[in-house]
Amino acid sequence: KKITIAIDGHSSCGKSTMAKQLAKELGYIYVDTGAMYRTVALYAMRNNLISMDNKVDMDQLCNQMPQINISFKLNATTGCPDTYLNEERVEDEIRSIKVSKHVSPIAAIPFVREAMVNKQREMGKGKGIVMDGRDIGTTVFPNAELKVFVTASAEVRAKRRYDELQKKGMPADYDEILKNVKERDHMDSNREVSPLKPAEDAILLDNSNMSIPEQQEWLLEKAKA
Ligand code: C5P
Repeated sequence: KKITIAIDGHSSCGKSTMAKQLAKELGYIYVDTGAMYRTVALYAMRNNLISMDNKVDMDQLCNQMPQINISFKLNATTGCPDTYLNEERVEDEIRSIKVSKHVSPIAAIPFVREAMVNKQREMGKGKGIVMDGRDIGTTVFPNAELKVFVTASAEVRAKRRYDELQKKGMPADYDEILKNVKERDHMDSNREVSPLKPAEDAILLDNSNMSIPEQQEWLLEKAKA
């Protein structure tokens, strides 16, 4: 039987690496919901809907939501889905520190969340799916058969994000990333709509001291149980 698997947790804890690999192993669809909020943030930045002091032009963003078409297309080289904004590949740009700095306020806006959650539920209909994010187990799929909540120390998470950006040849400053990781955790955990928290029936995983193969093995075992 194909099931729904929700992988939630803190920023840069390696959720997407775990979720992607699991989806490959099970032959399931993988959806990175953080990429969707990042894409809305990128759109808002490009269209001057965020002021210098980080205020979002709510009216304009609300009006323009129907013009923000987010899709995923399989990248033949990586075997993973790439994110597209209105048919333009934005997979690398949405991971930049600039977008990371603007995404949490955008993700706290109720009409943005409503649009994303509807889309996410649509994508999961009747298929085996692994979805990663912050509110998958609590809000998007409260009936998911398996829910995992992942965390690690902020320092370990910042180092992982730093290594990832470096590998892609993108600008990376460890202290700036650490600050951003902590700020996003704080904003994501304290917003009014669907704050970041483990679902009551989620299995907790602190992967600070686990290698990627160890995490993989742990997750696959839970998925097969
Ligand atoms: O997972 P990632 O770090 O790429 O997510 C970027 C941001 O998107 C998070 O910091 C959070 O503000 C928002 N997000 C969310 N709900 C999700 C996924 C991401 O609010 N399900």
